[in-house]
Amino acid sequence: MSKKKNQNKKVSKFANPFVEKKKPKFLELKDKLLSIYNTVNLETTCPGHCVCCSIACPQMNYSEFLIIVNRVYDKFPKEKRMEILKRSIKYFFSNSLIKPCPLLDGKRCSVYEVRSLSCRCYGLWPEDVYEQRVQRFMEVTGLKKHEIPLNTQCKYVKRVDESKELTKEIIEKMYDDLNSLDAGVGNFTKEQIEKRYNQRTWHDWFMVNVFGEQNLSDLSRFFLAAENQSVLDDFVVQMCKQVDMVGDQVFKRNKHG
Ligand code: SF4
Ligand code: SF4
Repeated sequence: MSKKKNQNKKVSKFANPFVEKKKPKFLELKDKLLSIYNTVNLETTCPGHCVCCSIACPQMNYSEFLIIVNRVYDKFPKEKRMEILKRSIKYFFSNSLIKPCPLLDGKRCSVYEVRSLSCRCYGLWPEDVYEQRVQRFMEVTGLKKHEIPLNTQCKYVKRVDESKELTKEIIEKMYDDLNSLDAGVGNFTKEQIEKRYNQRTWHDWFMVNVFGEQNLSDLSRFFLAAENQSVLDDFVVQMCKQVDMVGDQVFKRNKHG
């Protein structure tokens, strides 16, 4: 068997439980997402060049991830895709709370047109609702408030058109609509949606998409069991090298649409 075929065999053992269920029509899905985002005008005065995306990437729904990853596969050159994958690997296995969004290109969002609802809403939430979200995150993670990245909203960003108020109810309805979309596209059960199984960070989604859920949970167990940080750091370096060798095959195999 040729070296190339051997590499293919190695890659094909990674199962992907999400994309194999149902392949969506991407233009339709993108239109549905845009119509949810356009429930109210979310355009802002944000000048960019700033800090929020350099601190963290918020969670996104599965449908949103599919549209963004399709953009990455279709429009980005190989080097850029590999860079995003390697950053995602590092973040997936990192305990740091500060994880700049892998989709940042310099100081600009490289997928701005299709960014997620949480990205669009940052700085625009009613303050009490944002505080409740932070409190919930504290409960789930056991972290103190000062340890949570972006534990307050940006004070410098305002909506361009505030003629229609952005209320808690409107934001919740938009997330409900995203969940309904996910239920159809990803075949998530009602219980999984209730447990927010369909909402993850970019790097978590991307790692599942490329390597498969089972492989990632095996790797996570390995990381939790390991005692020596330098062993883990070496492992991540080796994994990134593997990605350099087989990465484009992995990308092609997982390309959507
Ligand atoms: S939302 Fe605020 S912190 Fe983020 S880029 Fe815009 S102005 Fe900067
Ligand atoms: S997807 Fe874009 S807007 Fe959202 S956190 Fe990443 S760089 Fe920022």
